[in-house]
Amino acid sequence: MNQSADDGVIAYIGLGSNLADPSRQIKSARIAIAQLAGVKERAFSSLYHSPPMGPQDQPDYVNAVMCIATDLPPIDLLRCLQRIENEQGRVRKGERWGARTLDLDILIYGESIIELPDLIVPHPGLTERAFVLYPLHEIAPHLSVPGKGDITDLLAQCPMAELEPMD
Ligand code: ATP
Ligand code: CA
Ligand code: CA
Ligand code: CA
Repeated sequence: MNQSADDGVIAYIGLGSNLADPSRQIKSARIAIAQLAGVKERAFSSLYHSPPMGPQDQPDYVNAVMCIATDLPPIDLLRCLQRIENEQGRVRKGERWGARTLDLDILIYGESIIELPDLIVPHPGLTERAFVLYPLHEIAPHLSVPGKGDITDLLAQCPMAELEPMD
């Protein structure tokens, strides 16, 4: 189910933005990701509105999850996503979880468990973040997260709290 001979590996990307018209940032990123060579869009969740994680003196976020099929190796995919972040004006300041125009995280890459200095997959925050789990469940309700278990079980452990679907 996670592999397709034609289009490569099924991967999930988490998108987030809280600066410079976040909904527009997410929609632009969706187009940029789908346009990458070696990437095809398979599904895209609703947009969700969520309070910031970490520093509270920053605007609320818009989040979404995208499913792709890709024949890019995981590190190449990461570099492409970082390039899109930069192209959409992301400025890296010292502060962890600070405000940004665009954040693109590789949540899942097929069945792979990756532990490289620059890339950990499945993404370590995935299991405790409502703004990841709810949109992920929306587009992949039967997903099994490698090393972590069924999405439905992960969701049951994670209150939706202040996460809100946008229409
Ligand atoms: P978090 O990773 O907790 O969501 P963040 O997204 O704000 O925090 P960033 O500043 O965007 O963190 O990224 C820090 C580093 O995380 C990146 O330089 C990248 O090498 C690394 N990284 C590790 N695993 C992943 C992954 N699965 N997807 C994207 N980046 C990752
Ligand atoms: Ca493409
Ligand atoms: Ca992130
Ligand atoms: Ca990131």
